[in-house]
Amino acid sequence: MQKFDALIIGSGIGGLECAYILARSGMSVCVVEKNAVVGGSLQSFKRGEDEFDTGFHYVGALAKGEILERLFSFFGLMELPWHQLDRDGFDEVFLKDKSYLLSNGHTAFAERLSSYFPNSSEEIKRYSAFLKDVGSKITDPLLKEGNGLSSLNELFLCNAYNFLKESVGEGALLDVISGTSLKLELNRPTLPLYTFAQINNSFVQSAWRLRGRGSQITETLANSIEKMGGFIMRGWQAVEIKEDNGVCSSVEVCRAKNTESLFADYIISDLTPQTTLKLLKESGSVRKIFRRRINKLEQTYGFFTLNLRLKKDAVPYVNRNRYYYTPELRSVWDVKDESAKGKVCGLLITQQVPKEGERFATYMDILTPMSYAEVAKWADTTVGHRGEEYREFKERKAEECLALAERIIPHLRESVERCYTSTPLTYRDYIGAPEGTAYGIRKDCNSIEKTLLAPKSPLKNLFFTGQNLNLHGILGTSLTALLTCSQILGRESVVRFLK
Ligand SMILES: Cc1cc2nc3c(=O)[nH]c(=O)nc-3n(C[C@H](O)[C@H](O)[C@H](O)COP(=O)(O)OP(=O)(O)OC[C@H]3O[C@@H](n4cnc5c(N)ncnc54)[C@H](O)[C@@H]3O)c2cc1C
Repeated sequence: MQKFDALIIGSGIGGLECAYILARSGMSVCVVEKNAVVGGSLQSFKRGEDEFDTGFHYVGALAKGEILERLFSFFGLMELPWHQLDRDGFDEVFLKDKSYLLSNGHTAFAERLSSYFPNSSEEIKRYSAFLKDVGSKITDPLLKEGNGLSSLNELFLCNAYNFLKESVGEGALLDVISGTSLKLELNRPTLPLYTFAQINNSFVQSAWRLRGRGSQITETLANSIEKMGGFIMRGWQAVEIKEDNGVCSSVEVCRAKNTESLFADYIISDLTPQTTLKLLKESGSVRKIFRRRINKLEQTYGFFTLNLRLKKDAVPYVNRNRYYYTPELRSVWDVKDESAKGKVCGLLITQQVPKEGERFATYMDILTPMSYAEVAKWADTTVGHRGEEYREFKERKAEECLALAERIIPHLRESVERCYTSTPLTYRDYIGAPEGTAYGIRKDCNSIEKTLLAPKSPLKNLFFTGQNLNLHGILGTSLTALLTCSQILGRESVVRFLK
């Protein structure tokens, strides 16, 4: 019989960080991952000699003393080859045939925006000061003993769009401030101000890519866990969580025809809560009403992604991300609904950092939001067996994205050596994300008690972690890993680790 102090299901960054924290506190840990490689959305993949990332393009708040730097120092991730984006233009937003650069640092950010919108400089200063305040409200309670997170409640309950409308008015400024936001789903009626402000603030602080593949993050975490004596079972799928009198007694895992039962005092699931509940096939403790509530939660959109290998010395490397929106789009806040109609109206264009001293990019990713409905008719197919119609559909979509991207990168199509594409179905099948969602459960400021999930489950020793709980993204899942482990170790112990 295999028994651990803690068993973690899923090796996304959230699961690995929980395993790391618990192993550092002296517990025996085991991570079970259904795929052959760890990382979930942060895994990289190879096509011949080319290597691409899936769910990593850039992170914020990694400069000395900023929140992600403090977390990544603890996790041993600051040694990775981080590469800072241009401080005077880490993101560029293309809107209605004009382009706007966003600068790092709250003062420079406000000054740069004011140069585009001189009549709104007071509103911009107030908005920038607001972001800074949110950043410290979120960071302080997590890193200092004694404080709770109650000061954040009002941010969860506040509607982001209404707040922005009141702060800067509707129009171009609101769109520019929101224009780098394909890294979250802008949904007018539901998006909590917390999600918008927390993510945007971290990037206004500082913005970073990795030199080399994004999977270095999760590979490094996995190596550290193994060095501390932890086990990582790659290629093993959790198929059932067994319950005995309100306590998880074991987790059944299988690989090919082999099945094993793993026992642990604590179980942490990095899977979506829906999937976790499916694994709890027979449970007297999980009431039907709870299952119904979880199963009714909506998912944020997924992405159609182009991974491009570029011809040698054809496309200069640009040390920033570019967000392009079609001039016909009324507002960037309409991207979600327009994409749901099958239109390509917003692109995130990002490049991998080239080798030291090289001026040209070798790899470029182009992402556009895609609703699951667009690919739902292939829902019963699996990777590599979706048929000719699906292939043609992807080709058409890729062509549309490239044509739009050429509006800001002339002759891009001629510069492409190879092009690989993926849809929400790809994410669904590799990572197990329902409907191939990119950012997990849609949080709703009007129904925050239902959509914001706590790490605690109805079972005493079963906990949730990962992007579905609090906030998505690398920063969001890292903060959530702390919250999850606080339930097991106590908040003070976790806070002390970070000092
Ligand atoms: C296209 C895209 C671009 C993104 N870009 C960025 C970015 O630039 N910056 C940023 O900060 N964030 C970005 N994100 C978001 C970020 O990648 C995610 O928020 C984060 O990686 C989610 O981590 P997680 O721990 O919640 O788990 P996930 O990554 O969802 O991992 C869950 C793991 O569980 C495994 N699993 C599932 N079922 C089972 C089972 N039954 N048994 C065992 N294992 C199982 C899966 O294989 C997977 O490895 C992006 C996401 C996407 C999709």
